Amino acid sequence: MRTFLLLGAATLFLASCQSSDGAKGKTAAKVATEEIKIDSVNTKPADNKTILAKREVPVLCYHQIRNNIASDSKRAHDDIIAPDKFKQHMKMLADSGYHSILPDQLYNYLVYGAKLPEKPIMITFDDTDEDQFTIGNTTLKKYGFKGVYFIMTVSIGKKGRISYMTKEQIKQLADEGNTIASHTYDHKNFAQFTDADWTTQIDEPTKKLAQITGKKIEYFAFPYGVFKSSTLHKLKEHGFKAAFILSTARDEKYPLYTIRRIIDPGRYTAKNLYYSINKSFNKTKS
Ligand SMILES: [Zn+2]
Repeated sequence: MRTFLLLGAATLFLASCQSSDGAKGKTAAKVATEEIKIDSVNTKPADNKTILAKREVPVLCYHQIRNNIASDSKRAHDDIIAPDKFKQHMKMLADSGYHSILPDQLYNYLVYGAKLPEKPIMITFDDTDEDQFTIGNTTLKKYGFKGVYFIMTVSIGKKGRISYMTKEQIKQLADEGNTIASHTYDHKNFAQFTDADWTTQIDEPTKKLAQITGKKIEYFAFPYGVFKSSTLHKLKEHGFKAAFILSTARDEKYPLYTIRRIIDPGRYTAKNLYYSINKSFNKTKS
């Protein structure tokens, strides 16, 4: 059993989400929900063309928040950001006037034209690493930001070379008004899903996360950012309102299921990140 756990931890480490290229809580959440209702003036959902033409909201993607160690591969560096840098980058966002938004707000903006705060941005975390709770959530709270946590359920509570969040930590994040979302069971590539995988990689993790949080699980992030156009329709059938890729192009038939994100790699300065946000997301007015 011990060997299995250690092996499991090593596999999870390798499987971290890397693309080929790369107390106020409850009150705030309640206020946000009410704002969405008031602002949802259009009852007819927008078509794909309208959604694609809207100004994209920047979405950031983080994995491990820790210092590099000698055994980290060069490729892993994109997925690792030092705690001090992460803190500087969050401060830069706050100082630049950004307001964090959550997937429900983005969905209501894209589909129903709901208003967003000025300079909206979404901050997301993949793969369940515990440092996202200890450093990530603590830093976000300092600036009044909320985050989105894409959980791969196999890793919950595991300890080892990398430690992962426990059920209790995930529940706390949800209770504090952050969004808990799905990132499969064990990081299997969505493009290679078999019929059975829709149960093990999608339905079972959704059920588990709903049990932990007491909330609906309605958002998904593709492992490695990789998707397959021909099976995107199934995400809606399995209860998801939207899904997130990395920085590749959106699928024109399924823009809600291919929302773009950029990785904030460990090598970026806060200034680099600021420019990257402005370069990667279009500025078309809706
Ligand atoms: Zn991942």
